[in-house]
Amino acid sequence: MTRVLVLNCGSSSVKYRLFDGAGTVAKGLVQRIGEQGGDAADHLAALQRIMAETDLDGLAAVGHRVVHGGPDFGEPTVIDDAVVERIEALVPLAPLHQPAALSGIEVARKLLPSVPQVAVFDTAFHATIPPEGFTWAIDPKLAERWQIRRYGFHGTSHAYVARRTAEILGRPPAEVNVITLHLGNGASACAVQGGRSIATSMGLSPLDGLVMGTRSGAIDPTVIFHLHRVAGLPIDEIETLLTRHAGLLGLTGDNDLRAVESRREAGDAAAILGFDVYIRRIREYVGAYLAVLGRVDAIAFTAGVGENSPEVREATLSGLEPLGIALDPVRNAAAAPIISPDGGRTAVCVVPTDEELEIANQSRAALGLHD
Ligand code: ADP
Repeated sequence: MTRVLVLNCGSSSVKYRLFDGAGTVAKGLVQRIGEQGGDAADHLAALQRIMAETDLDGLAAVGHRVVHGGPDFGEPTVIDDAVVERIEALVPLAPLHQPAALSGIEVARKLLPSVPQVAVFDTAFHATIPPEGFTWAIDPKLAERWQIRRYGFHGTSHAYVARRTAEILGRPPAEVNVITLHLGNGASACAVQGGRSIATSMGLSPLDGLVMGTRSGAIDPTVIFHLHRVAGLPIDEIETLLTRHAGLLGLTGDNDLRAVESRREAGDAAAILGFDVYIRRIREYVGAYLAVLGRVDAIAFTAGVGENSPEVREATLSGLEPLGIALDPVRNAAAAPIISPDGGRTAVCVVPTDEELEIANQSRAALGLHD
């Protein structure tokens, strides 16, 4: 078995998981980095702590989750100085996320100089989206100059879930078309054709697409001009508003769907509307991707909401029987792997995602290592 350490560095946290083959031998979370009373003063101290607590004997690779791969990183990539520079050059595309991954890489290379390290990009799975799917209707020279296009995120999750869905159906991934719905705090939809992403709802950043815990999702850009010009808000404030104070939180005051669901059941008007807006947006993307794919073998729900909320799954797909999409209420309540009735045209699946396992597997593959 090959040991792989997976690191997911955020600006104030480091999540880690040590794999031996597909098995987890250690995992944990270092939180509130740099804050008073936090677990560590900086990323260096965080990683030193992880290394002191974890037996890294025989470690064959470190896999880093990197949010933004820009236009060029379409594959997991073995890290060297040149790769670090290229990842650094992408900071302007993901100023909120990329610097943390970079400090994780820098520190891990310093502390584990003899262990090969691999960058696994959230965007990479979407590199197969065709030009008509990633191009926005603006001057191509301007788009090229500023690297403006749809990149998409949650790629490791969509890749993992699409493949697992094919396994659940007992069919080769290359023959299966799936709409994957990753519904967590962040949320995105993806159209996967024969194992390849051909459309996804997040864009240049993770702000586009579905309504999320604290992000607005897709919004007419004029709202931003209007808030700036007419309401007088500075651009940075509008960014914070749309990324951290919008979505379910903005609509209802709660970003956790469990709270929204229980308030909705109690008849709270804001929670009812928030839930309906959240669901309506998912349905619009399902409809769009039915048209993009033509034939859909399965719709797969994943992540915190997708795996745990029968209400969201039911509301998302209700009334679609004429399209060959239906749910079995007993299977849905039990979150069975297949929650549709037998024999339908489109299976509906609940597939627990495992981004860290996917990162470990992709890191091994990039280095030509076996499990
Ligand atoms: P992240 O995107 O941070 O990885 P998760 O995928 O863990 O988040 O999803 C977290 C969200 O899942 C929570 O905010 C909550 O809204 C939702 N969730 C978790 N459990 C349930 C549940 N039983 N019912 C409804 N929603 C749930």
